[in-house]
Amino acid sequence: MSASVEIDLAPYAARAAQSRGRCHKEVPAQARTDFQRDRDRIVHSTAFRRLEYKTQVFVNHEGDLFRTRLTHSLEVAQIARAIARNLRVNEDLVEAISLAHDLGHTPFGHAGQDALHESMQAYGGFEHNLQSLRVVDELEERYGAFNGLNLTFETREGILKHCSLENARKLGDLGRRFIERRQPSVEAQIANLADEIAYNNHDIDDGLRSGLITLKQIGAIPLFARHTDVVRSEFPDIPDRRLIYETTRRMINTLIVDLISETQRRLIAAAPKSIEDVRSGAALVAFSTTMRTEADELKRFLSEHLYRHFQVMRMTEKARRIVRELFAAFRDEPRLLPIDHRQRVEAEGPRAIADYVAGMTDRYAIREHRRLFSVGDG
Ligand code: MG
Repeated sequence: MSASVEIDLAPYAARAAQSRGRCHKEVPAQARTDFQRDRDRIVHSTAFRRLEYKTQVFVNHEGDLFRTRLTHSLEVAQIARAIARNLRVNEDLVEAISLAHDLGHTPFGHAGQDALHESMQAYGGFEHNLQSLRVVDELEERYGAFNGLNLTFETREGILKHCSLENARKLGDLGRRFIERRQPSVEAQIANLADEIAYNNHDIDDGLRSGLITLKQIGAIPLFARHTDVVRSEFPDIPDRRLIYETTRRMINTLIVDLISETQRRLIAAAPKSIEDVRSGAALVAFSTTMRTEADELKRFLSEHLYRHFQVMRMTEKARRIVRELFAAFRDEPRLLPIDHRQRVEAEGPRAIADYVAGMTDRYAIREHRRLFSVGDG
């Protein structure tokens, strides 16, 4: 059996056969390319399954219909693949990057990550992108020969979306692009913007369903209003629930189409002939200037009216406290940790506590906090 081939890829696409490879040498898979294999390893990982119980905006137990990090990641992969196919770049690679991009997220979304970053201030801080890389490079324990998932350079490059210069210097080859201000592959750039398309749209949907934002409020945002008008003229009596879906599906489409056409324009102008040309040039994947402005306006709306809504703030404050207190309790008394984590703390210091806390799902963190802080529970 021969490995699947990658057909009809543009010259600037990533090719599994020309990958910069894995840290640990492995025999190639028989029926899959290296990027397909990366994606499959991610789907089978423990961290991926935990995404089901991690918050996007709403804490997991607040409702069964809200997005979790798992469904968010699936939506990112769907959007990214649609864009990749149009631009004739590697769908398997964008899928792998999309599915892995949030693996390092703490419980309770950004509130959890901010709290852990504060707690880790004296020990090098905590960055969720870097943590996603740490999960696939170090923390998954599935193979006899190595720690982590031993993914290809290109998948790891895509997962590490941002990184402080200080940390980039410690990462060797993978960190170099942040120091030299180079770009990642087109596939990584696509996954990055597919993430934004996904969360802007599903946060509107979740925000409206929760009642924290209203149709009237968001009607002031031109990108949303324009698409709602089209839906209402087509279906004058449409119920609100369907109106929201019909609007967001059109918005997702508009954003994807705009992104593809602007990126095509840039690709024609820059004419990269290889992935190396992509890495050394300017950013290629982008929205048009008009769409960028409109998308930013939408982001500002969500930030003001949803992410900083008092009901969300109450939950995020609690989440911050839980993460802060868990970390402090384990740092002050490592014997509170399960034995394997305690041994890691003894060997590696507070970073191992951050790994343990970051790996928790929302509900596990809540329970663990109750077990540690409430007399009578245990
Ligand atoms: Mg994301």
